[in-house]
Amino acid sequence: MTRPASLVMPVLPGATVGVLGGGQLGRMFAMAARRMGYRVHTFSPDSDTPTGQISDIEITASYEDREALAAFSAQVDVVTIEFENIPSQTLEFIAERVPVRPHARVLHTTQHRLREKTFLSGAGFPVTPFRHVRTAEELRAALDVLGSPAVIKTVGWGYDGKGQSIVHRREEAEAAFATLGAEEAVLEQFVDFERELSVVAARSAGGEFAHYGVVENSHRHHILDYTLAPAAITTEVRRHAIEIAESILTELDVVGVLCVEFFLTKDGKLYVNELAPRPHNSGHWTIDASVTSQFEQQLRAVCGLPLGSTEVLRPAAMVNLLGDLWEAGEPLWAEACRMPEVKLHLYGKQTARPGRKMGHLTALGATTADALRLAVQARDNLTTSPAGPAPSG
Ligand code: AMP
Repeated sequence: MTRPASLVMPVLPGATVGVLGGGQLGRMFAMAARRMGYRVHTFSPDSDTPTGQISDIEITASYEDREALAAFSAQVDVVTIEFENIPSQTLEFIAERVPVRPHARVLHTTQHRLREKTFLSGAGFPVTPFRHVRTAEELRAALDVLGSPAVIKTVGWGYDGKGQSIVHRREEAEAAFATLGAEEAVLEQFVDFERELSVVAARSAGGEFAHYGVVENSHRHHILDYTLAPAAITTEVRRHAIEIAESILTELDVVGVLCVEFFLTKDGKLYVNELAPRPHNSGHWTIDASVTSQFEQQLRAVCGLPLGSTEVLRPAAMVNLLGDLWEAGEPLWAEACRMPEVKLHLYGKQTARPGRKMGHLTALGATTADALRLAVQARDNLTTSPAGPAPSG
């Protein structure tokens, strides 16, 4: 659906953008917004958040606190989200007062695995075969159809591999379901993928579409470890992945950035694994290696401005910095800065915990392999200094 640009009233620099959520995605969004002269108000249940540290005003209140939500809505010109697990009633309440982009329906679908998969399969997108499971009986029936290994996942509030486990053998299934501690789950066929890919894309309020190509992602313990941009795939797979992403954004009538995560099998088949209706960890490299970052793109889309160029300036690799790196004390930041093609991004989180995303490094190179080598080297140097004492001053 393309709306005439004249019907979309832009929210211009100088205006105030509201962000629901306080994490690193909101932080990088707020940086892009402030660079372009917007004010930013953050709303989340926490204080001194990664987003709040960059915002003009940080509101600390529950997503159910209607008084606080009404006051927040009265102070902002448009609202966006930085993570999808925000109650959709909260968005609907705000949307009665001020535009919310993407709209509540997008979150309602994508924050619930079963609704998301039902939408995807119903609209004809290739999705990992799955069954809805509420009882031991349904679980056995699902295993009969899908076979094992299979992956059992909670329907809501899952991220970074939380709320899921692999069922290797039929006999393990009931225990795995019980361990989830949820009344309902989704059982998915295990995909013996060759690669994990994603497409970060944007759609403007006027229906304009832009994408950052296809990138390759590697996970460790279900958490993204690194991203290579662009992915080394055939033109055909690239074309198909982008086509699927464009159709998904259009079908959902997304205004903003959305990431489609895929599994690519050895025989070249693509399955959609997951949707994230916001900028995504696999798009962080765009800050350093694209004309327009995914965060600026989100800002442009939610403010009703034309989208920016997604041209990629150099091949890039992004590696995540998890809390595990703090095990033996503060990482050696000067060591990462010693490498001129490596960019350090830290999220201002006070407490490092294993598995917690604390920051990332992006490296640019002549090829993605070069970039990855630099990024991994820089990350290794954070905990083992090969070059002696760090430069002073
Ligand atoms: P998710 O939270 O669904 O994105 O899952 C996190 C990671 O677990 C994925 O990126 C995959 O590496 C792995 N995974 C999830 N579902 C499956 C599946 N059905 N088959 C194989 N691996 C999976």
